[in-house]
Amino acid sequence: MTEIQIETAKMLLTSSKKIVILPHRNPDGDAMGSTLALYHFLKKLNHQPILISPNEFPDFLAWMPGSETVLIYEKDKVGTKAVLEQAELIFTLDFNALHRTGEMEHDLTTLKAPFIMIDHHQAPDSYAEVTFSDTTYGSTCEMVYDFIADLNGLELIDKTIATCLYAGIVTDSGSFKFPKTTGKTHRTVAHLIDLGIDNSEIHNLLFNNNSFESLQLLGKALQNMKLLKAQKTAYITLTQEELDRYHFKKGDTEGIVNYGLSIKDIIFAAIFIENKEEGIIKISLRSIGDFDVNQLAREHFHGGGHINAAGGKSLVSMKETISNFEQIVKNNPNLKF
Ligand code: 5GP
Ligand code: MN
Repeated sequence: MTEIQIETAKMLLTSSKKIVILPHRNPDGDAMGSTLALYHFLKKLNHQPILISPNEFPDFLAWMPGSETVLIYEKDKVGTKAVLEQAELIFTLDFNALHRTGEMEHDLTTLKAPFIMIDHHQAPDSYAEVTFSDTTYGSTCEMVYDFIADLNGLELIDKTIATCLYAGIVTDSGSFKFPKTTGKTHRTVAHLIDLGIDNSEIHNLLFNNNSFESLQLLGKALQNMKLLKAQKTAYITLTQEELDRYHFKKGDTEGIVNYGLSIKDIIFAAIFIENKEEGIIKISLRSIGDFDVNQLAREHFHGGGHINAAGGKSLVSMKETISNFEQIVKNNPNLKF
């Protein structure tokens, strides 16, 4: 953070406050890890933090310390709105545009309390008093670690906070393999491990949680994969009927999109997941190298994200979505080889 940002953040945190912490809708490991780490840290500073998630977080993150205290906006809109209205300070983590909270956006825009944003996505909106936004970071958790350091709070990081931070860094770095993983990432993680976290068990909790059905769903997804070889592109579809057949639960499709990229020479992978209830096709996009999926998600699929990982949605049928997608890919000048 800049000197001014540090001073402003310190000033906002001088007296004990009611603080709301928000992750984005459909929170992932980094969103839950960063918000929970901050929650525990602010408690240690004698604040009264409350974490509100726009909707349910996936079961495979329910082991994270503090997750049992999380309020879910979609389950109690009136109650959580009252909490928001009482808040004296609001942190938004792992997102940078209020519409990423879904329906909650409307309630947020009417609030008077100042916001602090900590986020690593591109093109932040300007709603916050402190905008700690930096796309060079591989995870928001690594930013929260630096935020705590800037507030001279490193000695306050205990095993609980370290566990949350580690989980988010592992998730968003693809277990330390994505390009934004730096020496500094590893030095941060080394400190967290030195604080006594059970790093091996955290990997177990995050990744060895498949059900028989979720593996069968993965099998179906891989069978559905299509290649556009000339464009070095692979994509997967999952219809609502297929999801239902394998008793889909939130989190079951996490990471499936990456299988496309594991094919030799493929540099662009996508997954299209039908959600009949919301009337959308949820899209995840991944790339290797310079191909910018954030731009593609913004231009064509009401979304955004990072250069190599982005998401969005389509409001038309799966068939039409795929037909559009194939055209977009075939016409994209950056996918001509
Ligand atoms: P995922 O594909 O795992 O859902 O998301 C990949 C990245 O894109 C994440 O960093 C996520 O925050 C971002 N992202 C996913 N969906 C959306 C969306 O609908 N809108 C925007 N702006 N970003 C998204
Ligand atoms: Mn993140």
